[in-house]
Amino acid sequence: MSLGCPKNLVDSEVMMGLLDRAGAEMTSDVEAAEILVVNTCSFIDAAKQESVDTILEMAQHKVAGRARRLIVAGCLVERYRDEIQKNIPEVDAVVGTGELEEILAAAGLDRPRPVVEEPSPFTILNAGPESQGPGPSTRPEGDLRESQGRFSRTAWDGAEAHLPQYLYDHTTPRLLATKKASAYIKIAEGCDHPCSFCVIPNLRGKFRSRRFESVIAEAESLVAQGVREITLIGQDTTCYGEDLGLKDGLAQLLDRLAAIPNLNWLRFLYAYPNKITGRLLETMAKHENICSYLDVPLQHASGPVLKSMKRGANAEIFLKTIEKVREAVPGIALRTSFIVGFPGETEEDFETLCDFVRLAKFDWLGVFGYSDEEGSRAFGLESKVPARTIERRKRELMKIQQRISKRAKAAWVGKELDVLVEGESDETPLLWEGRSEFHAPEIDGKVFINDFGAFEELHVGRFYRCEITEVHDYDVVARVVAKSGNQL
Ligand code: SF4
Repeated sequence: MSLGCPKNLVDSEVMMGLLDRAGAEMTSDVEAAEILVVNTCSFIDAAKQESVDTILEMAQHKVAGRARRLIVAGCLVERYRDEIQKNIPEVDAVVGTGELEEILAAAGLDRPRPVVEEPSPFTILNAGPESQGPGPSTRPEGDLRESQGRFSRTAWDGAEAHLPQYLYDHTTPRLLATKKASAYIKIAEGCDHPCSFCVIPNLRGKFRSRRFESVIAEAESLVAQGVREITLIGQDTTCYGEDLGLKDGLAQLLDRLAAIPNLNWLRFLYAYPNKITGRLLETMAKHENICSYLDVPLQHASGPVLKSMKRGANAEIFLKTIEKVREAVPGIALRTSFIVGFPGETEEDFETLCDFVRLAKFDWLGVFGYSDEEGSRAFGLESKVPARTIERRKRELMKIQQRISKRAKAAWVGKELDVLVEGESDETPLLWEGRSEFHAPEIDGKVFINDFGAFEELHVGRFYRCEITEVHDYDVVARVVAKSGNQL
């Protein structure tokens, strides 16, 4: 059971790959499983609660069902290692984000033989499987950010003092859990940014990039297996390669990946606003198979709040960035997310944010209420915003976005788009659903297909040319007009 973000999903896929190579058989049927693994998330309170509820539910299967071992993995372990084992005796073993290979010992299976890698043209400074020997540090920007950030976990009960360092590579076995034709590649792990509301650096460790050639090799192998859409992920993909001494590392990586034959769509999540370089945008504009899509979590738009969040910038700077992006990649879909109710956020700050959202007209937008997380710098801040105010602000901001989205979607009617078909709709078997290049997997709205055109049936994992016939606030309805030129 994999909870949380796509980064956690890749960790689950790696653990499944390791278990599979060691001879275990995978099943999603909890009744039939002998070993249950819950890969947890502990980003905010709601995620922690979902993780604990799932562990308790699985513990019931161990008491009353066939299961004989319960393993808890992931971010919750990094934070509450001792407490989980102390308070939930049904849990047999825990596996942190920095020790994925321990899943084998936790499951009572032997370790796989170590795989010897080809030497890399780059000096790798990370520890873990990607660390192949000593070398001088080439991460000046990372070191600077690290000195401004928080990398101490000593205050957390049960967390180990050292930070996770693991990072998989192309030789690590992995079983995909994503929908057909689509896969994630984690290109970096950890984060050196000092955002004061965030505990991710404490859960996932310092920023470290995978080596360039390892990412290319993994992408080639995925495409050879039939994957047609690759989404590069990391807490901040725009910092990719800084620790390897690369300048514009993400742009260089995209350039190489876009040249892989039969890779139809390539995208990356997430961009840090001041790391969107001219070279990155040029690269996006240059390659047809790099999706016109950018997810740049801005978190807020009021200068004082952003300063207190330890992120900097303001609405004016962000509007200039957005203009630059839209000029360089016309028609690009922009996604962002905001936190409302950060300590000290006034009505005026919130109004600044609302005005900014009205002007920026994002295609997709997520709003989170501030969650007070122990271990973050913001935890110690005064002037906490009451929960009811946070809820109201969240609702108001989403309402503004709903109007923007509705108006923008209306202009989609009559448009033709390539749609990657993902199967029957979860909502009704009368509709099928898919995504366009403007929809990232699992995050944005959907394209519902109610008319197959000249086709008797559609195939999951294939691209079709579709015409948008109807729009809702976030989702659109389409009819198939032809096979896509993207079809292989
Ligand atoms: S919010 Fe994002 S950029 Fe900031 S510290 Fe957390 S993971 Fe890093």
